[in-house]
Parts: sequence; structure tokens; C-alpha cells
Amino acid sequence: MAIGKVAIVGLGLIGSSIARAVQERLPFASVSGHDASAAVRDQARELGLCDGIADDPAVAVADADLVILAVPVGRMAEAAAAMAPGLKVDAIISDVGSSKAGVADALAKALPHHIVIPAHPVAGTENSGPAAGFSTLFEGRWCILTPGVDAPVDAVAALSGFWEALGAKVETMDAGHHDMVLAVTSHLPHLIAYTIVGTASELEEVTESEVIKYSAGGFRDFTRIAASDPVMWRDVFLANRDAVLATLQRFNEDLTVLQQAIRRGDADKLEDWFTRTRAIRRSIIAEGQDDPAPDFGRRH
Ligand code: NAP
Repeated sequence: MAIGKVAIVGLGLIGSSIARAVQERLPFASVSGHDASAAVRDQARELGLCDGIADDPAVAVADADLVILAVPVGRMAEAAAAMAPGLKVDAIISDVGSSKAGVADALAKALPHHIVIPAHPVAGTENSGPAAGFSTLFEGRWCILTPGVDAPVDAVAALSGFWEALGAKVETMDAGHHDMVLAVTSHLPHLIAYTIVGTASELEEVTESEVIKYSAGGFRDFTRIAASDPVMWRDVFLANRDAVLATLQRFNEDLTVLQQAIRRGDADKLEDWFTRTRAIRRSIIAEGQDDPAPDFGRRH
């Protein structure tokens, strides 16, 4: 299946990065866009993100072979319903939502007669909006497709090829499994960062100015994650509730183990644990999923 026209609904960090990457890497494809926010549409026009930006989502998706919804998870259903009248019958509809089972259900209900293949590029930053995007965001990162059992094989292959053309590596898995994996690798870390940053700034014995002044001791690395978009993350936790709660239960048990080791002065337990976690950091670098430069590449 050839993809000659791509339409992107939602032109924030992820949508604008896709638009930039398509313009750079798929010069024969045209790209149209829409965003619910008039201010974002104006900004996208100024940035020259797409060949055309439409005020009406149904106009933006007209004639598109591939339509990608890049809106918060809780807004997928309404975005799908709003664009539905303009869709080609054989268009591939996909998304980039950070949770998959709920989004797959919502899209299947909103577009029962279309080819829907949910997807999640596991790439991002703590910034939002059209100016925050960049064309290399997906390079070397994984994009997980979660096609339903009845998804046409050629459409899945076309969507895989699209993400590979943007520089991503593609994996296919069941939506429920995706949600469990991402609860561990993304959603729980965000929850922990949101908690630590909130707790540290509320500790009465330590002033807020001290928390900021001495943040290089570790705190500031959590603040990058905790600066992520509040609306996006509100929706992710509500949509992936069960997997997040199951993972959180396990985390709380492990935290209790470490708490006991500290209280009992169990040096071996602590050292073993920290040795294992250091090895995990090294495997992430070996896999090319982070920069080996010390201190996350900060200049000193
Ligand atoms: P973002 O920068 O906040 O952009 C989302 C855009 O969608 C906003 O401009 C928003 O406008 C617009 N929008 C909301 N509802 C809409 C609708 N019904 N129709 C059209 N536009 C609508 O968010 P993002 O970071 O790009 O995230 C987009 C999606 O990517 C989310 O589902 C998220 O889970 C997923 N994702 C994010 C990351 C990441 O690191 N950020 C990584 C992978 C996947 P308003 O602001 O006016 O609502």
C-alpha cells in the first residue's frame, strides 16, 4: 500500500515531529494537519509544518492514505468522530497514544468501518506544543504497533514501513501487553518522579530554595520527567489504570524491602541491589537507547 498523503490531527510535540520527519524523509508524500487549537494551527502555519493546515479536521484528512491522531489519550474518541466524515474508505487510521488498549477500543467504536492500527512511538521529551518538535525524534527509537487480529496484513506492513522511514525500529505486540510493559518502563517512572518532586518541595524541614539550590544531588534528574505535560499524563494514568496499579503494588513491595535493609543495616542487600541497577543502566546505553556521556551529557 503506497502512502502518498499523510494527515496529522494534533500538532503538538509528537504530531509536529511526525510532520517535520515526513517533510524531510518522505519528500514524495504530502502532509496535511489540523489541531483543535486555533493558536496551534497559526503557529504550525508559521513554522511551515505541513503542506496545508485545515481548520476543519474532516478537510485535513480528505484523500489521506494514512491519518495519525496525535492528541491526548482522553481526546482520541472525539478527534476520531470529528474527522470521520472526511476519511477515505481505505485510509489507514493510526495514533501515537501512550496507552493502547483503551485507545484501541475508543477508535474501534468511533470508526467501526475503517482500518484502525494503533501505534505508540516510544520517544518524547518533557516539552509540548508545535515548536517543541524535531524531525529526528524517532531516530533509533522503538515504535510499537498493536494491530487487532483482523487488521489487514498489507496495512500493518505499510504502517511499519512508514515508521521505519521516519527512522524508528518497529515492534508489534498485543495492546494489553504494551500497556503492562509501558506501565513499568514509562508510566511508573513518571508517577515516581511526580511524587518525589511534589514531596521534596513540601518537606517542611527543608526550604524550597534549598531543594532547588542543592538539586544537583539527584533531585533535578527527576524534575525533567516531572515537568512533562500535565494533561497528557493525567489521561495516561486514567487510561492505563489497571497496569499502573499492578506495577505500583510491586514497586511498593520492593521499596519496603529496601526500607528494611536500611533499617537493619543490611549492607549486602543494598550493595547487591545497586549493583544490579547499575548493570541495567549499562545495558540501556549498550542498546543505543541513551547517551553514554557522564551526567547525561551536561557540560561542566
Ligand atoms: P501536545 O504537545 O500537548 O499536543 C497535543 C495537541 O493536540 C495540542 O495542541 C492539543 O490542543 C491538540 N488536541 C487536543 N484535542 C484535540 C482534538 N480533539 N482534535 C485536534 N487536536 C486536539 O502533546 P504530545 O506530547 O504531542 O502528545 C500527543 C500524544 O502523543 C498523546 O496521546 C501522548 O500520550 C502521546 N505521546 C507523547 C509522548 C511525549 O513524550 N510527549 C511520547 C509518545 C507518545 P489543546 O492544547 O488546545 O488541547
